[in-house]
Amino acid sequence: MDPDVTRLAWEESSDTYELLETLRAKASDRKLRLFAVACCRRVFNLLDSDKSRAVVDVAERFADRHVTAEALGAAWWEAYSSMRDHDMDMDAASNLGWGAILPNGKRLARIEDCKTEAPLFPVLCTAYGAAGLVASAAGGVESLEALPFDQRMSDASRILVETYENEFRKESVLQCHLLRDIFLHPNHSVGLVPQWRTVDSIELARTIYNDQRFSLLPVLANALLDAGCNDEAILAHCRRDSDHTRGCWVVDLVLDQS
Ligand SMILES: [Zn+2]
Repeated sequence: MDPDVTRLAWEESSDTYELLETLRAKASDRKLRLFAVACCRRVFNLLDSDKSRAVVDVAERFADRHVTAEALGAAWWEAYSSMRDHDMDMDAASNLGWGAILPNGKRLARIEDCKTEAPLFPVLCTAYGAAGLVASAAGGVESLEALPFDQRMSDASRILVETYENEFRKESVLQCHLLRDIFLHPNHSVGLVPQWRTVDSIELARTIYNDQRFSLLPVLANALLDAGCNDEAILAHCRRDSDHTRGCWVVDLVLDQS
């Protein structure tokens, strides 16, 4: 895999691993967590339990430091204990707890602690876990090895595996759209001129962020235009009518958060 994926390849990639690898250390913990949360939000109803869903909610608030690492740890521990008691593997939400402090005082590995395994490992695991939930819910089976031995050679079994792979790929494409909404390619720098951050544009961006009212982005484009903004990348992004999520790079730029 080429870590120096070009900007064009970045725009066209449907490979979550490749995009995360490109970001590596340049991505903030907050934005990475918001991306991982967005992946889980897409499969919210497929998560194992309300305890898993609570981890997603708390992780989202933790990303913006509205709750403590201890609160995230408590939510994570609840979900983990429940799954362990039922002898189940935890779902995609289990990877959202990086950096949390558990009730026993121990801290789960932080994103920067995971670099020896693979860059941004918990983020990737969350995305893959979420895509796997979609693929399984569509009736797919992850591999022939997951089936009873005497069924592995049948055409029906191969179709189950193909279904899994196709659905996983489709979900990965959508995840990559979300990832590109949150992150620009590391070599693509867009600077917001201070004068474009008017009372109007900041207030609009705050409403969009807090209430997730992305339908207001074209209005934000107009407010930025009124303030003298002539950056085509910013204006075009605001006028795009889909694939925005909390952490959207334009909204973050106006709110001066990274
Ligand atoms: Zn956006």
